[in-house]
Amino acid sequence: MSMNGSFVEVAENSHFPIQNLPYGVFSTANEGAQIGVAIGDQILSLKKISHLFNGPILNSKQHVFGSVTLNDFMALGVEAWHEARQTLQNLLGNSCPTLRDDAELRASAFFDQSDATMHLPVKINDYTDFYSSVQHATNIGTMFRGKENALMPNWKHLPVGYHGRASSIVVSGTPIRRPSGQTKPENSPPVFGPCRLLDFELEMAFVVGVGNELGTPISAKEAHKHIFGMVVMNDWSARDIQKWEYVPLGPFLGKNFGTTISPWVVTMEALAPFTVQDSPKDVEILPYLKHDDNYTFDIALSVAIQDESMVEPAVVCNSNFKYMYWTMKQQLAHHTVNGCNTQTGDLYGSGTISGEDEASFGSMLELCWKGTRNVELGNGQTRKFLKDGDNVVMSGFCQGNGYRVGFGTCEGKVLPALDL
Ligand code: CA
Repeated sequence: MSMNGSFVEVAENSHFPIQNLPYGVFSTANEGAQIGVAIGDQILSLKKISHLFNGPILNSKQHVFGSVTLNDFMALGVEAWHEARQTLQNLLGNSCPTLRDDAELRASAFFDQSDATMHLPVKINDYTDFYSSVQHATNIGTMFRGKENALMPNWKHLPVGYHGRASSIVVSGTPIRRPSGQTKPENSPPVFGPCRLLDFELEMAFVVGVGNELGTPISAKEAHKHIFGMVVMNDWSARDIQKWEYVPLGPFLGKNFGTTISPWVVTMEALAPFTVQDSPKDVEILPYLKHDDNYTFDIALSVAIQDESMVEPAVVCNSNFKYMYWTMKQQLAHHTVNGCNTQTGDLYGSGTISGEDEASFGSMLELCWKGTRNVELGNGQTRKFLKDGDNVVMSGFCQGNGYRVGFGTCEGKVLPALDL
């Protein structure tokens, strides 16, 4: 028995109490990849307890928990997700004897997170990145076009985005190689070489659980039935490559060399208690983008950098998902309003999440204001952009009354460029 509601011990500031129960895919030295749920510093394997999902929907679908991605489970739909959560909260609760009093089953079904290797939790078919933080868009626009024209005329009428690269999305802990590419020094011809302005972008992303048929839009009012959960995301960015290539068709090689996501997918049901008011819209938006309920969440986010000489990571940014201007419902409704189909496992990035305060800016480009000031890491260390050996650690959590619903970390270390 413990105070947190589960028979599994959960430390006070753990990201994974029974109120959370995020889904991931893990393996160990002796066990192949399988689906699990994080609880405290443990993982409960759903493969090992699939026979206990005996509710009306899942009783005949237990095989989905034997898969090596969440896709088959997610494709069952929002009622199945709810039933699975209820089953897990019951099984892990203080008062249910099924797991609590079965030492043999517990020994086979629980794993220490410290012994586990995490994998991409979903097979990602398509990836889109939005640009939905008004402060981030304003900062970037101010730097490159001046304050008067910071936001493009379309920005407050539609959630701007671009189609990204799904194949280079990696799970937290995967090193990222500094890319090489073409850049254009001022007043001289383009050159080829390692990126000199490597950056992170603090983002979150949502995972589509159930897609839509080609030609059939998802309405903003129904979009929540398609959204399974969220992760923290680092949209690594090569600013110098990006700057030279992006006109007229947008991000390309400056972005597609790597995108990192946190391994645990936190469900929308776990995030529901942390709903806050949607950002007010300054202009009248078109009806297809409107929904009646709030779909913005209070998720505290941070970014820290640690190089090999540092004892602990230095926090460079504290932001919050609640700063988003467009909601995930609006993003999904806009993405599909022309009939574009989404599929189970699609990933939708928020765009860099910056607040008004300078300490909440979600990229080095903004923190160093285009290279005009240093970002302090302590001990005399400073950065403008990332150096080889820097480990970038993003994290996010919702603070409840006596518990946290967290995402763990989204980490990646910068490796030196290949000698090309
Ligand atoms: Ca981005």
